[in-house]
Amino acid sequence: MNSQGDEARTGVCRCGRSVDDPATLAVARYRGLGWLLFVIGITPTPTQIDFVCPSCRHLFGSSSAPEVCLRYKFRSS
Ligand SMILES: [Zn+2]
Repeated sequence: MNSQGDEARTGVCRCGRSVDDPATLAVARYRGLGWLLFVIGITPTPTQIDFVCPSCRHLFGSSSAPEVCLRYKFRSS
């Protein structure tokens, strides 16, 4: 298993937030039939996590590393 697709999550949005700000949202993305698993009552592991500013929706970056996806598995914001 490779941790590929893990981009640098750096930078500051126009509000002045960084990816390390507590308010920064981690948005889980599901590929393929992930949404269907929700429908039948299974919580799927996200395939990608996007880190987004809650105010200006600036995308700091995203990660598809398995350990990052698992960390946000039970969040649905
Ligand atoms: Zn912002």
